[in-house]
Amino acid sequence: MYSAQSLEDVRKFVREHSKLKVLGTRHCFNDIADTPREFLSLKSQDRVIALDPKALTVTLEAGMTYGQLCPYLHENGFALHNLASLPHISIAGACTTATHGSGDKNGNLSSVVSALEMVTASGEVLQLSRKEDGETFHGAVVGLGALGVITKVTLDIQPTYMMQQYVYENLPLNQLTENFDAIEASGYSVSLFTDWQKERINELWIKSRMDSAHHFEAKPIFFGATLATKNLHPIAELSAEKCTEQMGVPGPWCERLPHLRMRLTPSAGKELQSEYFVPRQHAIDAILAVEKLRDMVSPHLLITEIRTIAADDLWMSPCYQQPCVTIHFTWKQDWPAVKNALPIIERELAPFNARPHWGKLFTMPRKQLKSSYRKFPEFVALCNKFDPHGKFRNSFLDRNIFGS
Ligand SMILES: Cc1cc2nc3c(=O)[nH]c(=O)nc-3n(C[C@H](O)[C@H](O)[C@H](O)COP(=O)(O)OP(=O)(O)OC[C@H]3O[C@@H](n4cnc5c(N)ncnc54)[C@H](O)[C@@H]3O)c2cc1C
Repeated sequence: MYSAQSLEDVRKFVREHSKLKVLGTRHCFNDIADTPREFLSLKSQDRVIALDPKALTVTLEAGMTYGQLCPYLHENGFALHNLASLPHISIAGACTTATHGSGDKNGNLSSVVSALEMVTASGEVLQLSRKEDGETFHGAVVGLGALGVITKVTLDIQPTYMMQQYVYENLPLNQLTENFDAIEASGYSVSLFTDWQKERINELWIKSRMDSAHHFEAKPIFFGATLATKNLHPIAELSAEKCTEQMGVPGPWCERLPHLRMRLTPSAGKELQSEYFVPRQHAIDAILAVEKLRDMVSPHLLITEIRTIAADDLWMSPCYQQPCVTIHFTWKQDWPAVKNALPIIERELAPFNARPHWGKLFTMPRKQLKSSYRKFPEFVALCNKFDPHGKFRNSFLDRNIFGS
């Protein structure tokens, strides 16, 4: 593995190698970042390049993580619109895989990328922006590591804001299905955690902005769920020490939007993950379809999380021009069992045109992926234009995108 220290280093390495893969923070659960050949790391390129308070943008080097960027933004009076469940991940890796948080009005993390600098297969440096490059830009942001080495990213920012987080326990499933829209709209970002047992959502996490007109007033009972009286982990048996502050304690956006704190091991540690995006209008039917599989799923499951995401215009984003609900599975670390479970879940979710998270485990064949992404052929053409000899291709891309 080669660690690039500068843009020139990246260009030289790309020119000198016929096959390579860029590594972010290696948080993907499938083989999207794998190669038996050369790895390029941008980890040491982790500085902010420019904060533009007028344009409301921040430009950073591609090795930077959200955990590094967020405190800097907050200290300077700014914020991002949303974050994933953990801040440990690289911004370039997260955006290229369409990583998301939750919230009816919040697009995924890639949706606030306004410009990219990329080194393509020839070693050429390409500047792409939302303003100047229209459809090419929309094709490049969720690039799945197939287009080149992202060296700089510009993100939209906004004035900093404070939040409160409340957790409720035991939301009856029938309350969820009857009041899904109201529950999802109750906070700026809402997450539902369930083990699919006892026809209930084990924990409902509501993250509310204190500056919002729709600020959440926490009542002791909410749609039959009970307000928690101590901090909880999404997997109730685990210590909440790893989790961000709850019980309505005010805090900055960067310490409330992620579920997990920066300095501790994320989530359960030893686990596998899968996640499926379903168009929002099918939310209830899709949730009930998975609920029917509870006896098959539960023995292998640590927890499921359900979130909502706004639509965007990024070709390979699962939320391309449609708002989605995601059904996520944190699995025990038993790949043979998970590998058997996934096709059954995928079959049940197929009528709803479900698409898998690009960075998590799935078994859906290319044919199905291709038919569910309207811009799939255009994306393949863009890959062939930027990388005509397949320098950045690996077996994940060959299997799922190129079909070779
Ligand atoms: C505990 C845990 C919790 C998670 N929670 C969430 C969540 O809440 N929401 C969610 O959507 N996902 C979540 N994920 C999935 C995961 O975080 C994302 O898909 C991830 O952010 C990928 O970023 P990375 O830097 O780790 O990428 P890597 O895994 O290192 O690489 C992924 C892809 O990005 C490419 N890449 C990385 N950097 C560059 C670059 N500079 N230029 C070009 N290509 C690049 C790689 O080549 C590869 O193709 C979670 C993962 C874990 C482990």
